[in-house]
Amino acid sequence: MRIAILSRNPNLYSTKRLKEAGESRGHTVDIVDTMHCYMDVTSSRPSVRYKGRALPKYDAVIPRIGASVTFYGTSVVRQFEMMGTFSINESVAISRSRDKLRSLQLLSRKGIGMPRTGFANHPDRIDDLIKNVGGAPVVIKLLEGTQGIGVVLAETQKAAESIIEAFMGLNASILVQEFIKEAGGSDIRCLVVGGKVIAAMKRQAADGEFRSNLHRGGTATIVRLSPEERKTAVDAAKTMGLNMCGVDLLRSNNGPVVMEVNSSPGLEGIEKATNKDVAGMIITFLENNAKPNRTKTKGKG
Ligand code: ADP
Ligand code: MG
Repeated sequence: MRIAILSRNPNLYSTKRLKEAGESRGHTVDIVDTMHCYMDVTSSRPSVRYKGRALPKYDAVIPRIGASVTFYGTSVVRQFEMMGTFSINESVAISRSRDKLRSLQLLSRKGIGMPRTGFANHPDRIDDLIKNVGGAPVVIKLLEGTQGIGVVLAETQKAAESIIEAFMGLNASILVQEFIKEAGGSDIRCLVVGGKVIAAMKRQAADGEFRSNLHRGGTATIVRLSPEERKTAVDAAKTMGLNMCGVDLLRSNNGPVVMEVNSSPGLEGIEKATNKDVAGMIITFLENNAKPNRTKTKGKG
């Protein structure tokens, strides 16, 4: 197969591992900088151009689209879909998963467990917004934060009100969420590929921190999932329409709850914690599924 990894940085662990895994199985793997792709969108024969020439016809693309470049990145993926190229995650699914609120609304519609969550832009009754998710302590999140930045724990009603007022002053949309204290500063990252959890790790926050993000000093260990946790992760991936994703769960007193679904999950933490060849399993999925015109939306929607 001829595979393109859409990535801005060839030196990232995940990019390098995917290239290595593809090549070791006899595939040709190019790393293409998403932001340097350009396209003629009017042509009846769509193509993607890069460094002065049309890119070859790939059998599959693996988009690794950072949150800050979602808009342009997904339009490049859409162009590949229009050409009939199989993308491991479709552009619409990537866009969908980038909006935390939209994701939670979709998951909620399917009855998938999640922390009680409120959403607001400019509420007149902040006290009621907080009360409505069960009262303090609450977690307040910026709608488009990543890596734990923009996620704040407000221990008291007063603290919650002032944080919400501050965010509102900046015109930021926010989520207000029940704090799952019993998770004890840990969460579970499930890597779902092709409707199966292929690896899972538990991330534990550093001392004195409630956010378990590895970027915030969290540590990762291998974990065994309960059947309910496995099912929740698989259902969440399916609802989002993602063939490959990281589903983050919290272990709550009411069972597993989904916190977020990530369409470009990092491979370093999970491969090191589990000793599994996750990159290899992603390539295997492409070998079994990347047929021309298998992309469902063909760039529509
Ligand atoms: P980001 O997209 O920035 O990673 P998350 O929603 O994943 O934002 O939150 C970051 C971390 O904060 C999570 O990994 C988890 O450890 C902690 N956290 C987030 N929401 C809650 C919650 N409702 N209850 C308990 N801990 C939470
Ligand atoms: Mg997270």
